[in-house]
Amino acid sequence: MTQKNPSRITRRGSLLTSEVLDRSRVLDTLVNNLEGMAYRCLNDGHWTMIFVSQGCLGLCGYRAAELVNDTTVSWEQIIHPDDRARVRRSVETAIDGPGRFTMQYRICTAAGYFKWVMERGVAVPDEQGETVIEGFIEDITAQKAVLEALEQAELRYRSIFENASEGIFQSTRDGRYLAANPALARIYGYDTATALVADLADIERRLYVEGGRREAFCQLMEQQGEVLNFESEVYRRDGTRIWISENAHVVRGANGEFICYEGTVQDISERKHYQQQLERQANHDLMTGLPNRILLNDRIEQGLARAARLGYYLPLVFIDLDNFKFINDGLGHVAGDELLKSIARRLAGSLRSSDTVARVGGDEFVLVLNDHYRISTVISLLERILNEIRRPVTLAGREFQVGASLGVAMFPDDGEDAQSLLKHADIAMYAAKKRGRNNFQFFTHDLNRIADERLNLEAAMRVALEGDEFTVHYQPKVDASCRIVGVEALARWTHAELGVVGPDRFIPIAEESGLIMPLTLAILRRAFSDARKWNEGRDTPLLVAVNLSPLLFLGDDIVERITTLLDEVGLSPTLVELEITETVFLGDGTRAVAILAEFKALGFRLAMDDFGTGYSSLSYLRRFPLDIIKIDRSLVTGLEHEDEVAMIARAAISLGKSLHKTVIAEGVENQAQFEFLCRQGCDEFQGFLLSRPLPEAQISALLAVGGVIRL
Ligand code: C2E
Ligand code: MG
Ligand code: MG
Repeated sequence: MTQKNPSRITRRGSLLTSEVLDRSRVLDTLVNNLEGMAYRCLNDGHWTMIFVSQGCLGLCGYRAAELVNDTTVSWEQIIHPDDRARVRRSVETAIDGPGRFTMQYRICTAAGYFKWVMERGVAVPDEQGETVIEGFIEDITAQKAVLEALEQAELRYRSIFENASEGIFQSTRDGRYLAANPALARIYGYDTATALVADLADIERRLYVEGGRREAFCQLMEQQGEVLNFESEVYRRDGTRIWISENAHVVRGANGEFICYEGTVQDISERKHYQQQLERQANHDLMTGLPNRILLNDRIEQGLARAARLGYYLPLVFIDLDNFKFINDGLGHVAGDELLKSIARRLAGSLRSSDTVARVGGDEFVLVLNDHYRISTVISLLERILNEIRRPVTLAGREFQVGASLGVAMFPDDGEDAQSLLKHADIAMYAAKKRGRNNFQFFTHDLNRIADERLNLEAAMRVALEGDEFTVHYQPKVDASCRIVGVEALARWTHAELGVVGPDRFIPIAEESGLIMPLTLAILRRAFSDARKWNEGRDTPLLVAVNLSPLLFLGDDIVERITTLLDEVGLSPTLVELEITETVFLGDGTRAVAILAEFKALGFRLAMDDFGTGYSSLSYLRRFPLDIIKIDRSLVTGLEHEDEVAMIARAAISLGKSLHKTVIAEGVENQAQFEFLCRQGCDEFQGFLLSRPLPEAQISALLAVGGVIRL
């Protein structure tokens, strides 16, 4: 021990023994070799040092001699001015109380640097009983810097935590929050993070909307140690729902022990909403808001699985509005859209929420009806739906009534998958249309066969039209002296595999599939050019009769098409008879009359075909500019045996004559019929008795030998 103050040491002299001397030397070495300064000072205004160890120089840059007794500088002066008061308070408190103190403060070294020091001291009475302070002061500048850096870092991280726009959390395995930041509180609808941590104690039940979501989260955590973009729907505090995306990982201690989950939460409701909207658009019909074909298929799959599981029927109903085209074309698309929307609402309103109504085409809807185990409930539902559709609807200020044709196919009887069920419901709907609309039909396998055949024929017809495979035969029409005055052109088709297909089969298909116009033009082209050839150099004209489907009168270019064809071929309209049927007047009568008047004005002759079979309203016979009526074969067949038939034939002929029409009898098969009809004043005759329909060459041959048929 350096003896700076020998007098004070002397006071302890009486205690010296050899043993004590050794201890004192040990202490001396120890104290002087410690990093830091051991001291004893007075409890005075300068903290006057009465002893300092050699560490003094290293600590504050002053030698012991300069400090002891305030020779050069006092400890009070060395203490940073800002810290002096605090230091004094700490020491005084210790003196008044426990006696011990620990404090940190700054000092100013001899070289003018600041240092942080830690002082541990104790107030003790000295040999005279006066309070002195003894202690140890060490340099903690380096630790302090580390701590400060740590604090800075902590502060920075805290700032990120507090100000992040993403929610940040730490949570326990059993679903409590350990920490949350303000953003997370905001996302979950709490005022503060503390409120969130306190309130949201059961994450599993309180947070996630979908059951098992928390379990999935924990499972991923256990298996992979993290979750990435884990999207879930959650409840906010007020019960509203939002979508969040979580990224989180497991925090483990140095020994790998579990500490907590830690992660971030992003509110992705907006994106989710947008995504849902996109999905909705992809799966729904924009105009009516109903599911579209894509979603329909999904619903059918679900329905099938359910029906199979429970042993129920799954009826699929194909709905096609009757006459929608008429409203859409006549009133415009706005009214058409309005109609579709109101039908969509009515359909949706007639069904249970577990059922589906989808829009699959212009005016086509499909229903998927779940949970039916009796046909009777299906039937009553269909009746209700038909009634709903039939209710008047106001469009463009007028009331309209539309009907619909419904076709039903049911799992499991009519098909096991969506595709075949839809196809069969469509076929049944088609049958409903044929049955006169505004009704429903269940699918049967007969319907299927008919529909298949029809499809095959339609396809074959398209090919035949392309290849110009349709031909024409001509059936002569003779006067009472059996002289040929005209021929009727009849379409013929012999298919390579199907064989001869009669016009009674292919004409209706052509009408339904839109092939009737090209087919008619193909037939007429041949008939017109053959007629032109036959009439070359003839004294008396030979008329050619052609049949026109009533559907051709719905378009607006039939007159132009036929006159163009005549021009191309070079035949006069006066050599052409147009055979039409009563059906032509069923729709827009005035329109048909106008078209016929146009033909008439161009020089065509007009014939009413199959007279006596249809509605036989006599009024049109007067009103329409007809030249000829053709008494239908059914009024001729059997007239020689049955008085009733004979009577009707007689009446029909006299009616025609009284209206000054040319009367032709069809289907004359025997001499008796021919003679009867002659007697009744029939003008012309057509039938197997006179001639079957013949190819062009045979007609030419007949004409070449005078054109008179011998009976
Ligand atoms: P339609 O216009 O009444 O033609 C007369 C039909 O009666 C023809 O049948 C003819 O072969 C048949 N026939 C004529 N005389 C007799 C007879 O003595 N006994 C019997 N049992 N039948 C007789 P086809 O050729 O099978 O034509 C049937 C129908 O197909 C035609 O009836 C007509 O409505 C339609 N058709 C034929 N060709 C065309 C065409 O090019 N266009 C249109 N739109 N329809 C056509
Ligand atoms: Mg005819
Ligand atoms: Mg006929």
